[in-house]
Amino acid sequence: MQRFSAFQLFKQGLSGQSGWKPQWRSPEPKPAYDAVIVGGGGHGLGAAYYLAKQHGMRNIAILEKGWLGGGNTGRNTTIIRSNYLFDESAGLYDHAVKLWEGLSQELNYNVMFSQRGVMMLAHTVHDVQVFKRHVHANRANGVDNEWLTPEEAKAYCPPLNISDNMRYPILGAALQRRGGTARHDAVAWGYARAADSLGVDIIENCEVTGIRRNAAGAVEAVETTRGVIKTPKVGVSAAGHTSVVLGMAGVRLPLESYPLQALVSEPIKPIFPCVVMSNTIHAYISQSDKGELVIGAGTDIYTSYTQRGGLHIPQHTLEAICELFPAFRRMKMLRNWGGIVDVTPDRSPIVGKTPVPGLYVNCGWGTGGFKATPGAAHTLAWTIAKDEPHPINAPFTLERFRDGHLIDEAAAAAVAH
Ligand SMILES: Cc1cc2nc3c(=O)[nH]c(=O)nc-3n(C[C@H](O)[C@H](O)[C@H](O)COP(=O)(O)OP(=O)(O)OC[C@H]3O[C@@H](n4cnc5c(N)ncnc54)[C@H](O)[C@@H]3O)c2cc1C
Repeated sequence: MQRFSAFQLFKQGLSGQSGWKPQWRSPEPKPAYDAVIVGGGGHGLGAAYYLAKQHGMRNIAILEKGWLGGGNTGRNTTIIRSNYLFDESAGLYDHAVKLWEGLSQELNYNVMFSQRGVMMLAHTVHDVQVFKRHVHANRANGVDNEWLTPEEAKAYCPPLNISDNMRYPILGAALQRRGGTARHDAVAWGYARAADSLGVDIIENCEVTGIRRNAAGAVEAVETTRGVIKTPKVGVSAAGHTSVVLGMAGVRLPLESYPLQALVSEPIKPIFPCVVMSNTIHAYISQSDKGELVIGAGTDIYTSYTQRGGLHIPQHTLEAICELFPAFRRMKMLRNWGGIVDVTPDRSPIVGKTPVPGLYVNCGWGTGGFKATPGAAHTLAWTIAKDEPHPINAPFTLERFRDGHLIDEAAAAAVAH
């Protein structure tokens, strides 16, 4: 693997940038692998990387029906935080934040992880109670989170409107300083490059169309648009299409797939120092390093597999943004788009084994799985390699929807971006 360094940049600069090699190969699929990952988003690529790096499984492939990072990984608003309420969630999401903190060094690829702080606004007495409860619960788990008055919130984010002259005045905010953002494409490309260098075959334009099981019911092969590939282990990280892929093996999941939209403004000079989220009036915003304001909306109310949504959803979000940040009222929006998110009844993910031997699933991250990318990938790789749960993903089973051990972040926070 060609390593990035100041010396390399200098050297390539002198030779007209002509010496850079392709970041990963484009191999033909082999007839058989020790394991196959379905889905070339950050979660799938990361799982393949950790399988190769930490568990020595090098004869493995990632099958992606489109292009790497073309799913939700390349469509999200990149908010990273770990201030979830329940112990299980704090464990999983903070595991991810700790991995984020060293990821650029680990991959020798700048994922532009920026711990600029995530501030969640409280607009009602209920919000205040809920967020203060989060602050206390997070601290008990060793996760940083602090309560700010409206004045302290404005000092942290000067464009914020804290006047009483708005429909939902700001009563305070919860701030996680270790939260922030990362560059989404770079996460996919960084994992892809590192996995490829360890021998993982990354196969794009290869859709999985069937999962074959042997007489004992275990996985034995996948059918794809590029032929049948034998394998005893299949890990599925297909986000909004997980229920379709698992359906190929006869597994039903408690998932609903919704469009989720985001948009960006014209680029402007640095004005917005952190990430701000408002669950109550449903908007979240940060500024990218290119200068665009990155704005996220809520899910559409109907289920769909189209990667677009209703115009009234971003319109409502922009109304909320203009109320929170009146200085942005005259800005132009450049682009909007949608992704398909897979939502579980308790708004927590499912990561682990399935009733089919050799079939593993990582799904249900809904509107908030980007932040978990390294943690989910790391624990999924463990589960695939050892055929047993990692202590951190152990509570996030499929069985919890049968036995009632829910991790109900929906009830805890109403929304979980
Ligand atoms: C608009 C939007 C904003 C978001 N904002 C945030 C945020 O701020 N913070 C946050 O933490 N999360 C956010 N999310 C959620 C986050 O993007 C996802 O949870 C996360 O990226 C999921 O990663 P993944 O690798 O599992 O999925 P993906 O990146 O979607 O990868 C799955 C891949 O599987 C492939 N695939 C599907 N079916 C098949 C098949 N049959 N064969 C082969 N390949 C297949 C797809 O093409 C896709 O590339 C947002 C999502 C959206 C849509």
